[in-house]
Amino acid sequence: MAGEFELIRRFFQEATSCRSDVLLGIGDDCALLQPLVGSALAVSSDTLVSGRHFTPDVDPEALGHKALAVNLSDLAAMGAEPAWVSLCLTLPQADEEWLAGFTRGFAGLADGCGVQLVGGDTTRGPLSVSVMVQGFVDPARALRRGAARAGDLVYVSGTLGDAGLALRCRQDPHMQRWLHPALEERLDRPLPRLGLGMRLGSFSRCAIDISDGLGADLGHVCEMSGVGALLDLERLPMSDHVRAYVEATGDWPVVLSAGDDYELVFTVPPQHAAVFDEATAAWDVPVTRVGVIEQAGGLRARAPDGGIIEEVSGGYEHFRA
Ligand code: ADP
Ligand code: MG
Repeated sequence: MAGEFELIRRFFQEATSCRSDVLLGIGDDCALLQPLVGSALAVSSDTLVSGRHFTPDVDPEALGHKALAVNLSDLAAMGAEPAWVSLCLTLPQADEEWLAGFTRGFAGLADGCGVQLVGGDTTRGPLSVSVMVQGFVDPARALRRGAARAGDLVYVSGTLGDAGLALRCRQDPHMQRWLHPALEERLDRPLPRLGLGMRLGSFSRCAIDISDGLGADLGHVCEMSGVGALLDLERLPMSDHVRAYVEATGDWPVVLSAGDDYELVFTVPPQHAAVFDEATAAWDVPVTRVGVIEQAGGLRARAPDGGIIEEVSGGYEHFRA
């Protein structure tokens, strides 16, 4: 056992590039980290469990990427700049090939985002991956879920429903014709919107990442802010693949309620909207205005025919054509 875990440590010891604020990395009882003076430390963790969040035969490289991506997405949704990550792995066995793939996916994303792996734990047991990320944010610019106000405009980044459609296609043999590699890429290798999150601090006080679907996650914002929202279904940004699917089937729920896209939904006060729209034209991530925050609680949607659908977060079924 000791030998195997020695091997695992070797896999992770130099997996990622070094940051100057890591005084002591992997190998001692603790890592020693130098937080940025004047910033708050933003901390988040997420666990992925075999059989619940992925299938046991998952591509280890995709799993390594996704386990980190879903955590970094939380930093993005806070407007934080990522710095450090720790990794707790429970493995049925120390399979070198599997670990090499996992590390490639994990470290590839970490290096791309300037994050250093600074520690973790390795135990034997049913496969699960637990990640904790830490980053920096000016607390006055942090994007909180409770900061939406009536009249704010609601925006989302990227496109919605890609990952959800890919997942449904994988689970349902009758859906095969809608599957496309671009959709699978979005499901397996989501890209956290870190750059966007950090820039939003100049325009927004409120964001959440879309892990459970726009309806559910915007619902959390509404609840914590004591407000409601009206979404414009026709404005929801879709990839060509999802649009073709939705137009053929009327399956709007895939855009509203399917999770795993890891886009950001955020609010911008109306007085900042013009400046914001102008600024975003030069950004590499598309953002789309999809609705407005309202005083009355609950989530409503304006259908393409102009009718208002009440209680969107409850029953998605009445969207079906
Ligand atoms: P301890 O007995 O003090 O808990 P461990 O043997 O678990 O120490 O770990 C030794 C070192 O290796 C520590 O610095 C720990 O952070 C690091 N480490 C162990 N597993 C991992 C992992 N999966 N990823 C990154 N670092 C790890
Ligand atoms: Mg340990």
